[in-house]
Amino acid sequence: MSQQVSKLVRVMGIETEYGISALGGRGEDDLHPMQLSNHVVKAYGAAVEGAGSGGGGTRPAGWDYETETPLRDSRGYEVSRGQAHPDQLTDADLGMANLILSNGARLYVDHAHPEYSGPEVTGALDAVRFDKAGDAIMALAAQRASVSLGRSVRLYKNNTDGKGASYGTHENYLLDRATPFDRVVTQFSAFLISRQVITGAGRVGLGQNSQQPGFQISQRADFFEAEVGLETTLNRPIINTRDEPHADATRHRRLHVITGDANLSEVSTYLKVATASWVLRVIEAGQLGRDVRVEGPVSAMRAVSHDLGLSRLLTLHDGTRLTALDLQELYLERCRGFADTVSADLGESAWLEAKDVFARWQDTIDALREDPFRLADQLDWVAKLKLMDSYRERDGLGWDSPKLALIDLQYADVDPRRGLYHALVAKGRMQRLLTDDEVERARTTPPEDTRAYFRGRVMEKYGADVVAASWDSVIFDVPGRPALQRVPLLDPLRGGREQVGAMLDECADVTALFAALGR
Ligand code: ATP
Ligand code: MG
Ligand code: MG
Repeated sequence: MSQQVSKLVRVMGIETEYGISALGGRGEDDLHPMQLSNHVVKAYGAAVEGAGSGGGGTRPAGWDYETETPLRDSRGYEVSRGQAHPDQLTDADLGMANLILSNGARLYVDHAHPEYSGPEVTGALDAVRFDKAGDAIMALAAQRASVSLGRSVRLYKNNTDGKGASYGTHENYLLDRATPFDRVVTQFSAFLISRQVITGAGRVGLGQNSQQPGFQISQRADFFEAEVGLETTLNRPIINTRDEPHADATRHRRLHVITGDANLSEVSTYLKVATASWVLRVIEAGQLGRDVRVEGPVSAMRAVSHDLGLSRLLTLHDGTRLTALDLQELYLERCRGFADTVSADLGESAWLEAKDVFARWQDTIDALREDPFRLADQLDWVAKLKLMDSYRERDGLGWDSPKLALIDLQYADVDPRRGLYHALVAKGRMQRLLTDDEVERARTTPPEDTRAYFRGRVMEKYGADVVAASWDSVIFDVPGRPALQRVPLLDPLRGGREQVGAMLDECADVTALFAALGR
């Protein structure tokens, strides 16, 4: 792979914390959401282990690489990697499930929510595929947990409980370390502010506690309180500075985008990651070519989300006044121009995807200008608003009606038998980019062009001999070897099917694998 192509290949992954509740059973309040989430994750682990081959192995991922021992808290209990420093763990943190799945994803408990962190992918359609696989995993997990707990466990792909709490959907984009971070701050935040008109999931209620009745475009917008910062749960920033690359830190940064909504619609997710990764390419190349900083970004974020007419003018630092749609069009034009200059360096499939992305992005902007309801079969917020309007008309409901808040919640229910998004899909009212079979396959099978392939296949095939796995390594207990064996996976683009597929096919067990690895 040439240096130029690898610069244009964008490694990315989407993580989502799902909302959770349990109805019925032995009383409503006997389980803390953290315990409930833990049940859900463990129920999925038990289900796939029980399913046998192809179902995906699961192993805890808590490992101290310095000492090559399991991570332990101060009382000696083993804990999960990815949680707080062991010394800071509370009792409630202990014993939280943290699984690595055969599709290369991580399934764990974070902030009292079950979380699915999708495997690393390189294209927008694959990002959608493995994001939808996460929904399917959560649907199955909820069903299993309901059976084992004797209660109806519900999981929601949304970002707020409407009562002041917000939980995240994070997009992760591998960036060239050489890109000055200042440039990301000044050139990317206007993109994040304006893209809500495309990527919003729609929300009933205005304000963090839904204190004002109304409908807004985004689930997350009201929860941002700063322009730049390290936090993700308090004083949330539009540009998050967290930088754990899980890769060679001298060459890469992992940009952690926390402003996005959890999308049910495949088209929304596709546009969300495809447009962001193109804008980041333009920014990395230093080709945006103008100052696009928005005055008062935090209030602009909310203003865009609250503006169903899509006509609100935002003021840029240079005095220009533009709507969110104008800003999106400006970014689109820069991306298109830049793509033309690098088309020869894009692989065939990346170029085809680029052409599709730009056409859809333009059509979406045009339709939003003309009549947003033309996109009711494509964008979450429009689909949801149309649904709300039909109930409002039929039953004469105001925005303060609890029934509308319930419909908002039900739209996000991941169970295909109950969720209103799924009901729209079943009626043929939502465009899809993938078939059910493709999503089901992605539930247990990894992407082929990143290290997630190695991780996922190894979990499926030699799961019993894996003691720990993380984004950048897998640790094996190889029979007959006294020391645990760590296979580093620092380069996200190495370990794909082309490189290791035949070897994994041929090696019947982990001993053969290590022989083939020459170790
Ligand atoms: P938190 O839940 O606290 O936000 P986090 O963002 O550090 O945690 P995870 O929940 O483990 O981490 O998810 C990491 C996500 O980043 C996954 O979706 C994964 O596919 C993706 N990812 C891992 N390595 C890279 C990388 N080098 N570049 C881009 N994305 C990556
Ligand atoms: Mg996470
Ligand atoms: Mg994250």
